Amino acid sequence: MKKPIILIVDDDEQVLRAVVRDVRNVYGKDYRIISTTSANEAIGLLKDLKNKNEEVALFLSDQRMPEMLGVEFLGKAKTFYPAAKRILLTAYSDTEAAIRAINDVQLDYYLMKPWDPPEEKLFPVLTDQLEDWTSNHLPLFQGIRIVGYQWSPKSHRIKDFLSGNLLPYQWLDVENNSAAKDLLTLNNIEAKDLPVVFFDDGSVLLNPDLQQVGEKSGLKSRASKTMYDVAIIGAGPSGLAAAVYGGSEGLNSVMIERRAPGGQAGTSSRIENYLGFPSGLSGADLSRRALTQATRFGVEFLTPQEVTGISLADTYKIIKLKNGDELNTRSVIITTGVDYRSLEAEDVEKFTGAGVYYGASTTEAHACKEQDVYIVGGGNSAGQSAMYLANHAKDVYLVIRKPDLSSTMSQYLIDQIKGTSNIHVLGETVIGKVYGNDKLEEICLEDLKTKSQRQAKCAALFIFIGAKPVTNWIGLDIIKDDKGFIETGRDLMKYPAFKKAWKLQREPFLLETCSPGIFAAGDVRAGAMNRVASAVGEGAMAIKFVHEYLAEN
Ligand SMILES: Cc1cc2nc3c(=O)[nH]c(=O)nc-3n(C[C@H](O)[C@H](O)[C@H](O)COP(=O)(O)OP(=O)(O)OC[C@H]3O[C@@H](n4cnc5c(N)ncnc54)[C@H](O)[C@@H]3O)c2cc1C
Repeated sequence: MKKPIILIVDDDEQVLRAVVRDVRNVYGKDYRIISTTSANEAIGLLKDLKNKNEEVALFLSDQRMPEMLGVEFLGKAKTFYPAAKRILLTAYSDTEAAIRAINDVQLDYYLMKPWDPPEEKLFPVLTDQLEDWTSNHLPLFQGIRIVGYQWSPKSHRIKDFLSGNLLPYQWLDVENNSAAKDLLTLNNIEAKDLPVVFFDDGSVLLNPDLQQVGEKSGLKSRASKTMYDVAIIGAGPSGLAAAVYGGSEGLNSVMIERRAPGGQAGTSSRIENYLGFPSGLSGADLSRRALTQATRFGVEFLTPQEVTGISLADTYKIIKLKNGDELNTRSVIITTGVDYRSLEAEDVEKFTGAGVYYGASTTEAHACKEQDVYIVGGGNSAGQSAMYLANHAKDVYLVIRKPDLSSTMSQYLIDQIKGTSNIHVLGETVIGKVYGNDKLEEICLEDLKTKSQRQAKCAALFIFIGAKPVTNWIGLDIIKDDKGFIETGRDLMKYPAFKKAWKLQREPFLLETCSPGIFAAGDVRAGAMNRVASAVGEGAMAIKFVHEYLAEN
């Protein structure tokens, strides 16, 4: 926690030294004492402090200074820190100016020079003022601050990225937060530059991409080595498990993730059926624990970083990254999971990130307070999201094509939904069109049985339909099923292309693709179970086969 600041300004170096010494002796433990002989320098400093989100508790300024009078300085300082206490140091002849300043700059106190003995003339005043400041003051948020428009897709992406990577941030909506407006004015930032991200060290990124935000937040997107034993692509449950086992078994491992650790599971508000957690755990918690475990075993984690292709050079594999970098590895585990399918409703792309969200979006839940939200999909992920949103929104509507949830959702979730009065299931219904200006405002609901249509107000629409494998990026000629899921192990044998591709005497290992040393695990694999536990199990198993593969090469 940063200490609040006492800022002292006096052009007379000797006097300044004396006052700083006295103030530091008594208040140095709880406050940071900053001093300068130049009022102009102090003003420059204030801008910097404001960007760093530092707090000033008290200004102590001399009145007679060549650059500007103390009263003028305190007036300017007030625009930066209106709640800070303002104390003027005056000579006897300046008493009148000091009295006028009580009204002009809402001066809190004026002290006569000299202040000896300080125990009688200085400390009681400062202590009183600082106590007053402390009792009326709420500590400021320390960390990353994002200023932007609530319904901007760019703002949403940054919020989602930071929360997915478990980096705390404060969201400041430029339309209704005065601190947001102050920060923009202070730094001459225009609307076209939004969203803007302010960091603790005072640096500011205008309209940044995720890579810039990640690098500035301390995430690592570049590999430190050129050769690895195993490269794990995707940090969902399957990739994380592979990383933990790879690292713990001494493999030189790198894991690459385009967004945030946890994958689909990371977006879940509560996973209730994962072994060993009888009261459930959030996806964020699971990811945090797994990532800590993997990094403890020395696994290198690159994020945000997207893999754009794999190529072969003898028995080595070359991983191509989006930023143009390449890294070499002796084996690969593909754990890139699945993405949601796009909703086929008119104009839906127009509002993606601005009221329409694919998958769970816990970052936007608070913005749905007292409003109606809709969820499309009848699976467990949709059910969990409904339960979570029911705590924030007025009413939550689950839109499904089937008459009820019985064939698509676990019974425990169906029971929870039945017991939640503000969740409503709209069976045999689809969304035909969405409407709005800058953000989603309304949707058109179509009844599949009666063909009737009606419009409804909708603050946010969350889409959880079907899952398509994330395999288009691979580039290599790898055998996939007709839906694009990667085939592995003995299942490859049924493909005529396999005989041409496979040149080894042995059969492929259980999770091996038709390219030796390249494995697939978790939801991206044909025949996967689509559960956290099975993805974790496959990730761990893949490492076992990596060892066997490496032993033969
Ligand atoms: C909201 C929700 C709730 C769920 N709840 C449960 C539950 O309660 N119980 C349960 O058992 N299952 C649940 N599931 C299902 C479970 O989360 C998945 O089965 C599991 O996450 C699959 O893990 P995975 O590692 O195979 O893939 P994913 O979780 O899909 O992870 C794949 C990762 O790869 C990354 N990636 C993709 N392409 C690239 C690339 N080119 N470069 C770098 N990285 C890439 C993605 O960003 C992603 O992080 C839920 C799913 C959702 C969406």
